[in-house]
Amino acid sequence: MAVDIGGTKMDIAYVDETGAFYKPPERLYVPFDEDGIADLDKMLDMLEPYVVFARENLPNFLGAGFSICGNIDDADGNCVLVANLRWYNVPFGKMAHERYQVPIYAATDVRMALIAELLWGKAKGCNYVAWMTLGTGYGGYLFLDGKLYGGYHGFAGNLGHAIYDERGGADCGCGQRGCFESYVAGPAIARQGQAAADEGRSALLKQLSQKDDGKVHTSMVFEAERQGDPAAVKIIEEQVRKLGISLSSMVDLLDLEMIVMGGGVLKGAADFLDRVDNRVRGFLMTVEAKRDLKIERETFDNSALMGAAATVFIKNNILEL
Ligand SMILES: [Zn+2]
Repeated sequence: MAVDIGGTKMDIAYVDETGAFYKPPERLYVPFDEDGIADLDKMLDMLEPYVVFARENLPNFLGAGFSICGNIDDADGNCVLVANLRWYNVPFGKMAHERYQVPIYAATDVRMALIAELLWGKAKGCNYVAWMTLGTGYGGYLFLDGKLYGGYHGFAGNLGHAIYDERGGADCGCGQRGCFESYVAGPAIARQGQAAADEGRSALLKQLSQKDDGKVHTSMVFEAERQGDPAAVKIIEEQVRKLGISLSSMVDLLDLEMIVMGGGVLKGAADFLDRVDNRVRGFLMTVEAKRDLKIERETFDNSALMGAAATVFIKNNILEL
């Protein structure tokens, strides 16, 4: 059984060791209390029928893998920091295990997504890979020298919170200012589009925003860009440039063979990834990296969910990275 807990939704699936789904994934929504904190008790209540179903109907049921959108200690499933759920040191793994009495494996969503790509996707057979998500946030996870790499505290891959310019950008959910994420993630693009509409720099964005009461969405900025709106073109150009700086720095530091990118922002424009690829390659130091680096789009729609399932098989020595 696999569960992917995002900032608002929870996807649930039963997956076998080939990555095939037992039936289509189901979606629930994260319950929040009146203070805007995700309600763990209620969440465990909502998921309980799915665990019961697995225990009673799946003869080879091995346990539940949880992919969670934050910094998770994968040894015990402790949620060190999950900004979207407003969880700080929430003992998710322990609570879920006490409630369900089945093996629980929890880890950060980017780690889970990378595992799915390594086992079943485009990164199969690669030894130096970074997964990067570009959506509500910007961050990833690393596979170096044939091993998952979490770093000293398990927080490696937080590339989005490297500082681009602490005097510019916007305040970031991480508590800093001017992180790459505050320039390139979906909400940052929407915010810049909103400013262009509000300050009279883009009549088109102003017009598109009427669809939602004057609110500019990331997809509207891409739409305006497609139509040649100068303000939107500039926003996306700058986004691609900063992604180029950020990703090429990572490749120069780690000498990667592949970056797999996922997340909602990639759906903004058909050639978005090609543009990012061009920028990254332009900034890379060595001819070898320029020649060999592969930048790929995610293989699956639900990599984190699949990776959560894969983790259960890996922990039971049925699959191996
Ligand atoms: Zn940040």
